[in-house]
Amino acid sequence: MSEQGVQGYNPRTGQPIGAAVAKTSDSEVDRVVTAAASAFEDWSARPAAERATVLDAVADALDAESELLVATADGETALGLPRLNVELKRTTNQLRLFGEVLREGSYVEATIDSPNPDIIPPRPNLRRVLRPLGTVGVFSASNFPFAFSVAGGDTASALAAGNAVVVKAHSAHPGTSRETARVVTAALAAAGAPEGVFGIVYGTRSGVALVQHPLVRAVGFTGSTGGGRALFDLAQGRPDPIPFYGELGSVNPAVVLPDAAATRADELAAGFAQSLTMGVGQFCTNPGLLFAPASLVDGVAAAVTASSGGAMLNERMCDSYQGSTESLAADDLVTLVATGDKPADGWSVAPQLFTVPIEVFAENLEKLTEEHFGPAGIVITYSDPSRLLAVLPKLPGTLTGTVHATDAEHELAGQVAEALRRIAGRLIYNAWPTGVAVAWSQHHGGPWPSTTNPLHTSVGATSIRRWIAPVSYQSWPDELLPPELKDANPLGIPRRLDGVLGTH
Ligand code: NAP
Repeated sequence: MSEQGVQGYNPRTGQPIGAAVAKTSDSEVDRVVTAAASAFEDWSARPAAERATVLDAVADALDAESELLVATADGETALGLPRLNVELKRTTNQLRLFGEVLREGSYVEATIDSPNPDIIPPRPNLRRVLRPLGTVGVFSASNFPFAFSVAGGDTASALAAGNAVVVKAHSAHPGTSRETARVVTAALAAAGAPEGVFGIVYGTRSGVALVQHPLVRAVGFTGSTGGGRALFDLAQGRPDPIPFYGELGSVNPAVVLPDAAATRADELAAGFAQSLTMGVGQFCTNPGLLFAPASLVDGVAAAVTASSGGAMLNERMCDSYQGSTESLAADDLVTLVATGDKPADGWSVAPQLFTVPIEVFAENLEKLTEEHFGPAGIVITYSDPSRLLAVLPKLPGTLTGTVHATDAEHELAGQVAEALRRIAGRLIYNAWPTGVAVAWSQHHGGPWPSTTNPLHTSVGATSIRRWIAPVSYQSWPDELLPPELKDANPLGIPRRLDGVLGTH
């Protein structure tokens, strides 16, 4: 970051790219948040179907500017045009999914209890619904310049729910952030959304001011464990603590059972290496720990040796990967068994594979379960599945847990799944964890340190639940109730009436 502003860099050359974007002063953060808070009153009162139409318009506008957005992001991230085109499409489809969520309507969990004076305690006419919180602060991620950034999942779900949003742009892609914000702001205005319902701020200091601003009611974050923890502590240290939903680091254990290793060795080695090195390993679902019989190590090592690294997103990430893998290699605990190709230029790194017996791993859990963000993995070799079942529940909280098994191993696969369920948010069978579908049933979360709140997801339809809070209306006349709770159910949404779910 330069003195004057937030400067983007080309990871392929290490040189500045594009004009620096001015850092947002504290007084400007206050102006942006205040504008958002006043737009919230109007936005949250709009019918859900109207908000859905606006989100669709934002998606269409981003699609229409895809060429410029993707080229800008490629310059600042080196993630490549094919990947970034797919990521932008994922981002616009995510906005459209929230349109569907709003039109379907069950996300507000409308619930009605008829009055009953004859039970103990007597029950009044009681109706419950989820309502938006106010202004939400969103910290965008470095490794997904679209899907987890300015117009990404946190922004889409918070706006959908009727909140206003102020984004803290990531310093690694200021130009992409500025261009995306320009498209989003114009599309919101053209679709009739209130001015100020979406805002953006730049510079590390602006993020602190955002989390501490009295009008901010919740924060979403995707990034490192250290950064997330610091901002979580700030949110909790306010005179009025607010919800902070952070997605942090994750080691994503993958387990290969003995029969699968014996019968599908080549396929598993290739699949693991591909998942480990995709996007230069810069995925929060990157499979950093592979538990496998020793017979699989040579094949996996060959696949990683044949793989190629690339430029990492920024200099800090490149230095951190080099430093953490060097100290792992210098340690007597693990053995380096493979190093992939390292392109010559910019902030490039090589994939690396280490191995360690499960007995040594179990005695050094804390050290060997640190995340090495990038294309580095450790194969933990085991021969006795009971050791595996003892170690897995002791791993740190993680976004995913994967099992590879044959039909003959269903009983053991079930036991492994039961062990992984305690530490992981998504369990995967005979596939790899990179690639997170945007769907109604997705759960992208898990216990600390993968997130700061294990009850919620940052991807999929139910991620909207982070930005809405319950309120019960007791004995109110029908005309004063929100539409979701009126007797006639004018929106036709699913509701629970006296304990029974339907469209009553
Ligand atoms: P990062 O360094 O934590 O930065 C994320 C955001 O937080 C940036 O906007 C940064 O501001 C801000 N920030 C960080 N520390 C701060 C502090 N002490 N005070 C105020 N603001 C602070 O993370 P990153 O560089 O984006 O990503 C790398 C790591 O994130 C990896 O370890 C990876 O595992 C993790 N990650 C996790 C997920 C997931 O879904 N769980 C997804 C992506 C990445 P500046 O931009 O101004 O520095």
